[in-house]
Amino acid sequence: MRGGSRRGILELGMKAKFIMETIPKHLASNSGNLEALLKDAFGFDSFRPFQHRICQSVVDGKNVLLVMPTGAGKSLCYQLPGVARGGTTLVVSPLIALMEDQVIKLREMGFAAERIHSGRTRELSRQVCIQYLQGRLDYLFIAPERLSVPGFPEMLAKRKPVLVAVDEAHCISQWGHDFRPDYRLLGERLPLLKPANVIAMTATATPRVQDDIVEQLALFEPQYHIHGFRRTNIAIEMVELLPGERLDAAVSFLRDRRRRPAIIYAPTRKKAESFAQIMGDEFGAQVYHAGLTPKKRDEVQAAFIAEDIEVIVATIAFGMGIDKPNIRTVIHMAMPGSLENYYQEIGRAGRDGKPSRAILYHSYGDRHVHLFFHEKNYPDEKILKNIYLRLTEGKTPKKKLCAETGMQEEAFDIALEKLWIHGGAIVDPDESIRKGHNKWRQTYKKQKLHRLAQIDEMARFAESSVCRMLYLVNHFGDREDNGEPCGLCDFCAPDKTIATLNHSPGQHEQSIIAELLDILVKKGSMGSGRLFTDSCQGRSVTRREFGYILNSLASIGLVQVSDDSFEKDDKIIHYKRVQVTGQGRCFEHSGINAIKIKGFIPGAGSSRTAVKKQRIESAAVIVKRRAGPQKSDHPVNPDARVRASLAEWRLKEAQRRKIPAFRIFSDKTLDQLASDRPTDPESLLEVKGVGPFLSNQYGDKILEIISATDKE
Ligand code: ADP
Ligand code: ZN
Repeated sequence: MRGGSRRGILELGMKAKFIMETIPKHLASNSGNLEALLKDAFGFDSFRPFQHRICQSVVDGKNVLLVMPTGAGKSLCYQLPGVARGGTTLVVSPLIALMEDQVIKLREMGFAAERIHSGRTRELSRQVCIQYLQGRLDYLFIAPERLSVPGFPEMLAKRKPVLVAVDEAHCISQWGHDFRPDYRLLGERLPLLKPANVIAMTATATPRVQDDIVEQLALFEPQYHIHGFRRTNIAIEMVELLPGERLDAAVSFLRDRRRRPAIIYAPTRKKAESFAQIMGDEFGAQVYHAGLTPKKRDEVQAAFIAEDIEVIVATIAFGMGIDKPNIRTVIHMAMPGSLENYYQEIGRAGRDGKPSRAILYHSYGDRHVHLFFHEKNYPDEKILKNIYLRLTEGKTPKKKLCAETGMQEEAFDIALEKLWIHGGAIVDPDESIRKGHNKWRQTYKKQKLHRLAQIDEMARFAESSVCRMLYLVNHFGDREDNGEPCGLCDFCAPDKTIATLNHSPGQHEQSIIAELLDILVKKGSMGSGRLFTDSCQGRSVTRREFGYILNSLASIGLVQVSDDSFEKDDKIIHYKRVQVTGQGRCFEHSGINAIKIKGFIPGAGSSRTAVKKQRIESAAVIVKRRAGPQKSDHPVNPDARVRASLAEWRLKEAQRRKIPAFRIFSDKTLDQLASDRPTDPESLLEVKGVGPFLSNQYGDKILEIISATDKE
């Protein structure tokens, strides 16, 4: 407010200021006043669930960990208390785009908001520091790596903020899916800013990550606010299908108008493109993924919001900014890599509160895709050790080290990055490397195993026999949830499932049911693998079909299936334990034929499947033809001058940001850029090794350098 310049802004600012000045400080935290502030300064009529209580805690000076889903309104929980306490709120945020967005919004509301990050000039940052020190800012946003700039934390400490807000706080935890080494500095530097209290916010943190955030930030007497994970209008369905059966199932499901608009999540860009191609005629489906230019992405988003297209086929990079309230269905064409991702993605359904559906197609083989990438991204410890042992206190150039190990550059970069993240290597901006500490092994091992556990967790969720929503709510550690089953999911309401087909048990299924109930009545409980062998002996039934039977019995309460585990050779082995219930003990065998078995039977409607398959194949050919030459086909013939200019700029940027140059882009990408010499954002994204992050952050600069060098 103090820095607001436009007239409208001033008026609004005056209003809020008036509240602050006329209300004695000791009263400023009573609830009536927070409500007045909400109305006058933020223009909202009422608090959203939990906001009031959280704001009150923060105003009272408590340290708070806040975990609520995206869109729940977390920002207000630091913005309002910051104003109520009357001083500058320091906001640590990892993404420039997020920062810019928040600054614009806050300024529109009449606040004085500024930011310091790598995208701004030194002079602008200097001016912002002056404004901060003069107490003219309501909010100052900074990127975490600023805290490593000598003198910067001390500058902040000269005039203490009233509150420190840490956004995307899961980035500080090695157990979070997005661990950022820069965030580790926070724990070290925050004490300088005392007595400011801290609010750490994130949309995704399991109980383990929650504790880790609190520990890493050294939050004193923290209050945990973990809320709002239960969605009461999303019916979750898990459907076990082989990959080849899924597209067909999705298309027929979406034919019902009431099930659109829809988002389909595909496991890869290539798959997304081919699915969209096939669905294009029928639903006007379009792809949306990180490989599109921002312009194209905006166009697709706008068309989706305007309902010109009804289906979007996306990879997980989708939806950062999308807020379409009436999405009726979210379909996952394959198992996502973690429950965190899954939850965020299905959360886009039914923001309007009306009934919506989330369908996940999966099969056991989905795990392998994730395991493949896991192996690539988390190389064997021995590989890291091989690099580590070659390091000395003196500087070794990266190229030399890579040659010594005899590794391919790409694999070397991945391994070196891990070693760097975990402190085993110190990489200078010019890419010379020194030996770090020897504790890297423990944290690396933990992180690698953790990522693996996430994949397993996702698979266990898909195969579990409990209420789906309750499983999610428990997973996120929602502390005030009522613990009730949702009544909507495929487990709670098997009769109402849409994507799953039910059938009456055939003769051999009936005899399996009779046999397994008999066994369980005798033994009480046993592992599902053993039960399968014992009850299906000599019968032709697959594990998958047995799973359908078991789930169906569990959903009508005859048996209970729970996750159990034991330890073997330092590993935790998970398995399912099946137990007969009281109802199951008294169940008359004559009632078996009335049980409904739920499960998709491949082959049903086979004529339609055949036609579809043909379409899929021909569409795949079209996609191939349209895609033109693949990126990897480009010959690499770098232009020496362009390469040199780009390398020079990369080094400067790396020095400025105090990071190794390969974190900006690798030598391989450098060669490719100097060879392809892209001239516009589209062709830049075509260059192998250039992803959306690089193109968003540095695209303009790279294009400028290439074009300037070309003209020389
Ligand atoms: P999150 O950070 O939890 O993802 P945001 O803080 O970005 O969510 O809030 C999501 C949207 O809800 C924003 O557009 C915000 O302006 C709006 N919002 C937040 N609190 C309220 C409220 N009390 N009343 C109305 N709208 C609100
Ligand atoms: Zn349920």
